[in-house]
Amino acid sequence: MPLRLATILAHPDDETFGTGGTLIRYAREGIEVHSLCLTEGEKGWAGIDDHIVPRELVGPTRAKELAEAGRRMGLASVTCLRYPDSGLADVNEEWVVRDIVRWLRRVRPEVVIIWGPDGGYGHPDHIAAGERALTAIELSGVQRHEPELGAHWHAKRCYRFVAGAELIDRLSSLMPAFAEYMETLDVKPQRWTRDRLGAVIDVGDVLDAKVHAMEAHQTQAPDLAMWATARAKLPEIFREETFTREYPEPGGAPLESDLFAGLRGG
Ligand SMILES: [Zn+2]
Repeated sequence: MPLRLATILAHPDDETFGTGGTLIRYAREGIEVHSLCLTEGEKGWAGIDDHIVPRELVGPTRAKELAEAGRRMGLASVTCLRYPDSGLADVNEEWVVRDIVRWLRRVRPEVVIIWGPDGGYGHPDHIAAGERALTAIELSGVQRHEPELGAHWHAKRCYRFVAGAELIDRLSSLMPAFAEYMETLDVKPQRWTRDRLGAVIDVGDVLDAKVHAMEAHQTQAPDLAMWATARAKLPEIFREETFTREYPEPGGAPLESDLFAGLRGG
């Protein structure tokens, strides 16, 4: 049986723009990678110029873009649920947790990636997705909890994706518009300095493949342009993807560089 990695995130571009390099790296190694996305991101960008999608088609279009991005990243499966974009936190928590438990018990991943406690940059859907996923990961491993959702499954490790302080600082200094945008946020990201991180994954070798997968998200052209601008100014800027560790115990030093260290060949 191959090892399995899963992401449980909120919008159809989170796994690509956020953790895409990590997913590509493990998929290339032969690890089965599965992504669960809780919304279709129907409130997001509808495209630009000649490529604007009618508002009612944004959700289905973004779900298709995610499927294509997943294909480009080498993912084994991509599942998109239809909880409301920008309203995930208001949905009955039990419904969302139940759907995630069912999915986890089917996919049975050793390692799970979820949103960090600040949702990357304070996005309420991201924060809610992280909290629901955490509850679901715990309940999935409890044998007596809703056995009709599948045989119980304990993930061995859980990592939370966060935006490292170095990256935020670099983006802010390279692009005044990004710095201004950060000022408008109700919830600012935490300062994830290196000493607070659990794992740093070097994705330098797969950055071009990550960009290729990002380009599948055609409606998200403004974000793609922002990335391209930053990368043109500082080619190394997106070389690392950064995580905190939730299981088996909250991570700190020593910083890990492999989410599967010690899990292979056993
Ligand atoms: Zn998102």
